[in-house]
Amino acid sequence: MRENKRQRLVVDPKYSAWTKKYSSKWKSCKRCPLHKETGSRVLMRGFIPFEVLLVGEAPGESEDVLGWPFVGPSGKLLDHILDNSVYTSYLIANTVVCTPPREDGKIRDPFQTEKETCSGHIRELISKFSPKMVIAIGLHAHRSLEWTKHIYIIRPAVLLRYPERKADIAVQQTINQISRAMKSTKQTR
Ligand code: SF4
Repeated sequence: MRENKRQRLVVDPKYSAWTKKYSSKWKSCKRCPLHKETGSRVLMRGFIPFEVLLVGEAPGESEDVLGWPFVGPSGKLLDHILDNSVYTSYLIANTVVCTPPREDGKIRDPFQTEKETCSGHIRELISKFSPKMVIAIGLHAHRSLEWTKHIYIIRPAVLLRYPERKADIAVQQTINQISRAMKSTKQTR
């Protein structure tokens, strides 16, 4: 699997010391049992600083291989949605940093306790950058972000499973949903 430039993290030099410290802290974290069985640690991609924070649930197969969140076909679709709705800097992360182990050949979902323990890294991002908007990607991420104001969108991986026409409509609805939310954040500031 090849890496593409958009999968990287672009850091304003003013924030490079903070980013290094933050990354090394969460890449060596042992706060929950996932650290013993993890594949890759997948932290974030996008821009630092950022105005919009997107949070998915956990790294999947492509993320485990490439080490960036939301890569592969669902990441491509997410990028398309963001290109047409979020006209500002954004950062993409997950509720857990460590890729959960495989069960029956598939990466298992993170446990609630793992998500709660790892929420510290999302709290840290929000407290440092006070994003204008937080977007949960999918229902599980939505439930994990109950403690902070956010909107939630359907996971791109689910949209990819829809029949083509239904998928096109749902993608456009997601673009409209984020655009409306972006507009209302501008009006309330
Ligand atoms: S999932 Fe999060 S809290 Fe658990 S070990 Fe990994 S970085 Fe630490």
